Amino acid sequence: MSSTLLRLGLWTLVLILALFVVRESYSEAPIAEMIPQRMLEQAMMVSASLVVAGVALKVFEKGTKVVSKGKTRCTVCGKPVPAGAIYCREHLRNMLEREDHRTHGGTRPR
Ligand SMILES: [Zn+2]
Repeated sequence: MSSTLLRLGLWTLVLILALFVVRESYSEAPIAEMIPQRMLEQAMMVSASLVVAGVALKVFEKGTKVVSKGKTRCTVCGKPVPAGAIYCREHLRNMLEREDHRTHGGTRPR
């Protein structure tokens, strides 16, 4: 859905830019009168907002996908965690504490 919107917006934008160029290059020809500047500007606004909406939707979809997928889980308890994380907050703290003990306690040279 978001990629369709994005593609549609981008293609419209390209088309309008092409029309702008045509209008500028053939300002003497009757084709320029067939493309009112006001219409082009409005179309540009619409396509630009289409692109913006597409990008926003894409980000949103990505966010919900990560949550609904639940692919990344805590390796200890299986709780869903944010992408890239190995442990849930609780276990991450445990692991860090353990690491801290190992590196700073006991084995520290006197
Ligand atoms: Zn956990």
